[in-house]
Parts: sequence; C-alpha cells; structure tokens
Amino acid sequence: MIEIKNLVKNYGDKQAVRGITFDVKEGEIMGFLGPNGAGKSTTLNILTGYLSATSGTAVVDGIDIFDNPIEAKKRIGFLPELPPLYLDMTVKEYLNFVYSLKKCKFPKAQHLKEICDVVKIGDVYDRMIKNLSKGYRQRVGIAQALIGNPKVLVFDEPTIGLDPKQIIEIRNLIRTLGKEHTIILSTHILPEVQQICDRIVVINKGKIVANEKTEDLILAVEGSRKLMAKIVGPEAEVLKALKSVAGIKFCEALGKRDMDSISYMIESEENVDIRKPLFATLSRNGWPLIGLEGMELNLEDIFIRLVDKQTEKKKSDSKLLGKVVK
Ligand code: ADP
Repeated sequence: MIEIKNLVKNYGDKQAVRGITFDVKEGEIMGFLGPNGAGKSTTLNILTGYLSATSGTAVVDGIDIFDNPIEAKKRIGFLPELPPLYLDMTVKEYLNFVYSLKKCKFPKAQHLKEICDVVKIGDVYDRMIKNLSKGYRQRVGIAQALIGNPKVLVFDEPTIGLDPKQIIEIRNLIRTLGKEHTIILSTHILPEVQQICDRIVVINKGKIVANEKTEDLILAVEGSRKLMAKIVGPEAEVLKALKSVAGIKFCEALGKRDMDSISYMIESEENVDIRKPLFATLSRNGWPLIGLEGMELNLEDIFIRLVDKQTEKKKSDSKLLGKVVK
C-alpha cells in the first residue's frame, strides 16, 4: 500500500533523512518510532505531499506521490502534529469546508454524519472549535483526515498533549480505524506502538535502525528483562543473596520503601527466566516476596540495545569476512 525507497531529504547542508526504505502492507498499522529530531515528521510530510524530497521515491496505492500528487493525496488522510483547525469555525462549518476543499464526491450529509459517529463528535457539531477540549479538537482533526474515506491514514504524534483519559480514547479510536484502513502512526512513545501497531519501523538520525513485527522487536530488545521485586528482609543481605542467584546479571535497591518491604530492580541474563530461582532463594531465607512486576522498557533502552545488536552484528559479519574490526 505504501512503498518508500531510498528517500533522502536535505535542509541546506543538514541531512534530515538519509536514504530510508520501508513499506506498509494493506490493512497494517505501522508504528513509526524514533526520538525527537529523528526525521519522522520530515518523512511523513514528504509521504503526504507537503514537502518535496531531495531524492528517492514514495508510492501510495501504486501511485507515485511526486509524479501524480493529486491522485496520491486523495488516498491519504493526514493528521499532522498540529492539526490544521480553524478555531473560529464550528465543527460543522470546518468539516463542510474540508469536504469542499477535498472535492469529495460522497453524499455530504451522510458522509459527515458517519464520520462524526465514528470519531464521536456528534455532540459538539455546532460548537466553535476554539471552545473544545484538546481531546475533542484531536477528534475533529481525525474527522478531517477521514473525509473522502482515504485508504491510508497517517497520524503524527496523535496523543501528544492529551490527558490520560483522552490518550486511551484516541488510541482506541485508532485501533478501530485500523480495521478499515492502512495506518502509519508516528510517535516517540513506546507503549503506544506496543499497544496499537502490528509492525514497528524505528528511525534514528535519519536512518532506519529496525523494521520488525511488534512482538519480534519487543522480544529482541527484551532478551534480558528487567523486573521490579518488592521484598521484606534486611537490604544488604537480600542484595547479597540476589547477586548469588544464577541468571541475575545485575540488581540494585531502588531506595523505595513501602511499609516493611524494599523495592529492587533485577536484570536477568538474556533469555533466562529468573522468577523460579528468585522465589526459591527468597523462600529459603524466609524473606517474603510481596510484589514482582516487569519494568517497562523505554525508548532509550530500545535504542541502546538496537545499536548494541547492530554493532555486534557488524563485528561478526566482519569476522566472517576475515576483516579486522577496530
Ligand atoms: P522528528 O519528527 O522525528 O522529531 P523532524 O523530521 O522534525 O524529526 O526533523 C529531523 C531533523 O531535521 C531535525 O534535526 C530537525 O532539526 C531538522 N529539520 C526539520 N525541519 C527543518 C527545516 N525546515 N529546516 C532545517 N532543518 C529542519
């Protein structure tokens, strides 16, 4: 559905996107993940026809965005990081305006009603956009992207600045839309892509550093897992005992006391499940384990591990080729 090949974008002598290639299959929800400044918005702005590329190609539903931008754009609904809303219009006026702008051919009243039902903005249809909450404004932004029923939806940081309840609502909405559309969701929030996306493409400094199914990527970087354990017992002795458990690579007290328990961060060796030996050690010593939970990996952890893995791979590839690695 979307094919990007060797895409390059230079801003003057600054290389923002350095030859990236990836595709998104029909019906897939693809997470586009990377830290701020990685090149996500630049890529999406090129894909949606808002920005020219220095070189490379971008094809949407078989149509080249540079050769035939009007036809390609008809197939894409875009929610930029700052939705292009007119604050002095009512929701109704704004959606009617976008409908004409897109030269949409669907029966107007019915089409707009269907969209308002999906994104749940029927109750604010006659309100001025400037008087809406950020969550509602974001829904109106999604509504404008849906006008014309494009096959592809592109969302750039759709939950930024929303409160936790609004974030859950917008994520659910994106999941619902994913049943009927191919979606690219750009974000720097790892749990967001973990919850919503089938596949994750990671970009860093203008280059793709990973392109994998969500569960494979999480598995790959979670090879060594971090757990948080709440244990009742004398801190120094507990730490000593934990460090002697086979399979535990690293542990430290987190300095968090809750009643009489202390929290510890425990990192296991790659692909080792240390829960059973951990429990056996604690029970032998009579120290109750009153809580054990996985610690969420953050984006920094992912990058460190991806870069480590790439460096390891380069080293082993070079060894195979008989080269000396410095
Ligand atoms: P992201 O969306 O991942 O945060 P961007 O695509 O916005 O990243 O930016 C990629 C890089 O290009 C950054 O280093 C940014 O500073 C730079 N950049 C973005 N837009 C411009 C511009 N109009 N002129 C010059 N540099 C830009």
